[in-house]
Amino acid sequence: ATFASLGLSPPLLQACAEVGYTTPTAIQAEAIPPLLRGQDLLGLAPTGSGKTAAFALPLLQRVIAGRQHAYRRVRALVLVPTRELAQQVGQTFRRLGTSCPRPLKVAVLHGGVSPNPQMMALRGGCDVVVATPGRLLDLLDRNAVRLDTVEALVLDEADRLLDLGFSAERERVFAALPADRQNLLFSATFPPEVQALADGLLRDAVRIEA
Ligand code: AMP
Repeated sequence: ATFASLGLSPPLLQACAEVGYTTPTAIQAEAIPPLLRGQDLLGLAPTGSGKTAAFALPLLQRVIAGRQHAYRRVRALVLVPTRELAQQVGQTFRRLGTSCPRPLKVAVLHGGVSPNPQMMALRGGCDVVVATPGRLLDLLDRNAVRLDTVEALVLDEADRLLDLGFSAERERVFAALPADRQNLLFSATFPPEVQALADGLLRDAVRIEA
């Protein structure tokens, strides 16, 4: 497969070329076409499989396509377990979003640092939010972020999210989102807790394994 054959649009193809992705990884080849069609997805994939670009590319395509009527509204939300992963995933979105017609704004929200710069970053509006759940809930409580325009939710490393207490936070996060949205769940392992989370979240999901 090539990135073009997967249905990605010219700005995203240009972004792949610029970051040096010449051929899609297996998980990208499987995940990108159904994600571009708007389907839910369950991905059993560890770090190193190329899973970040597998969801970032189709979500960016969606964000670009709808920008005229939703400029700098949060359209995609990615929840990750750790600060390091938040920065990594945010960086991937930024690098792949550089070829967009207008500059794309990606907010990265995590604990361990002052919330003030994150609140400043949110103030001008942003297109994509990558967050750890605790800090996201903190910023929701401060009315620093609105999630009622989110079209796609990604739970990345869902097994580790649950290990770090996401089951207690999930209802409050989900309550801030529109009910009608695309849902993606990635996990390296698939214990019953992850299965239960996936069952509650995904509808007619495509299942892929790296
Ligand atoms: P991930 O599994 O998302 O953590 O990605 C692992 C690494 O693979 C990252 O350094 C990516 O930049 C790189 N990568 C992702 N997709 C491709 C691709 N199609 N070709 C080459 N490198 C890639």
